[in-house]
Amino acid sequence: MGSDMLPGVPHVAKEMIIIELREYQTELINNIRKSIRTGNKSVVAVLGCGGGKSVIQAEIARSAAAKGNRVLFLVHRRELCEQITNTFENQGVDMLLCSVSMVQTVSRRIEKIPAPSLIITDEAHHSTANTYRKIYDKFPNALKLGFTATPIRLNKGGLGEVYQDLITSVSTKWLIDNHYLAPYKYYSVKLADTSGLHIRSGEYKADEVACLMQNKEIYGETVKQWERIAKGRKTIVYCASVEASKMTADEFSNAGYITCSLDGTTPENERRDVMERFRNGEIQILCNCDLFGEGLDVPDCECVVLLRPTQSLTLYIQQSMRSMRYMPDKTAIIIDHVGNCYLHGLPDDDRKWTLESKQKQETTVKIRECSNCYAVYALTLSKCPYCKYEAVKEVRRSSKKTIEIDLVELRRQEDLKNTKLSDAVFNTWEEVVEFQKIKGYKFAFCIRYAAAHDIPIPSKYSYMRRIIGL
Ligand SMILES: [Zn+2]
Repeated sequence: MGSDMLPGVPHVAKEMIIIELREYQTELINNIRKSIRTGNKSVVAVLGCGGGKSVIQAEIARSAAAKGNRVLFLVHRRELCEQITNTFENQGVDMLLCSVSMVQTVSRRIEKIPAPSLIITDEAHHSTANTYRKIYDKFPNALKLGFTATPIRLNKGGLGEVYQDLITSVSTKWLIDNHYLAPYKYYSVKLADTSGLHIRSGEYKADEVACLMQNKEIYGETVKQWERIAKGRKTIVYCASVEASKMTADEFSNAGYITCSLDGTTPENERRDVMERFRNGEIQILCNCDLFGEGLDVPDCECVVLLRPTQSLTLYIQQSMRSMRYMPDKTAIIIDHVGNCYLHGLPDDDRKWTLESKQKQETTVKIRECSNCYAVYALTLSKCPYCKYEAVKEVRRSSKKTIEIDLVELRRQEDLKNTKLSDAVFNTWEEVVEFQKIKGYKFAFCIRYAAAHDIPIPSKYSYMRRIIGL
């Protein structure tokens, strides 16, 4: 089987076909075709969320099956099988020759399935996993096409082990500018310090994250910030654990909003019922744990709240962009309480993708946070685009990330510098130490001052009282 099975001009007029391909979608198919013509047997195509991946996949499957080729379409979650089968049927794919299957199922029954000429892998960033490799290895003569929005692995490795060529298409920015995705506003209101979390197999340790985020104060503040920034909007809240999801939902309910919590343990019929009520607007806020990354279709969802710190760019993109399905006049809102944007940048940042691993893909996060409204925006802007609050010059710290010093904080330190000791009033040890540092006093000043003003001295410094002679 060669490149001829992929369409050059994608549309043979057929009544079955209901969605016309957009120009960039046709171009992507043509570029895949060109790559195969040069001899590549495995190609991964990168298309951002909202790019209309399934329509492209359907067109490729339709064209291949129409020429008598057998197509195997691999998905990694059961819910997607039904959805994709529907799309394929609507797009006129001959389903006698095309099988849409769970990767685990195919892997288990590998000896029984007929050899495909074409294997299409959805969510191809999983392609290097053993279950996928087993299938690819079993059918070495099949042409392999992968699709993903984020062609990297959780350990930051590339997909070069599986694919020979990588083809990109239009960017997320372009999709927004051309009204295929809604524009968005991003707010970072950090409620938890993730710096102490340990990483295992490329992701934060789940038990540590659960422990960090299981905090009533965090849920309370989440509700307050939502009321400040996105009150009344249809919202999905991504939580770090089942428990956290339930408690966050309780907090929203107590504040008078109609809220539900869903997770992997929710029975299927209840899940469907809640989703239906969320779609029709009866439920306003949907809290969840590990659901609704890819494949959730609620076009009028306008806001997502991120309460799950993640090292996974894929997960971050899927979650943060869930509110960006296009609707006229809609502006999506993303409220990030865990600083994910400082690790991954903004959802529509330009990213350079390659098949290689980590070292070559290192990017610098170029964003700043507004000290007035907590919006996050590009470092190139001198004012907050939402509230027009002026930004201060960024400072570069040792890490590759650029960290913005809070303007309010800077002013406060400036004031402190100009304060005479005789005018200063301190209530805590920390305040005394801060003043000492800003003024350049010796550390002994802190001990003397605290002792004279009845401010408790931390026990690790109490030996200094003796040295100073207090
Ligand atoms: Zn602002």
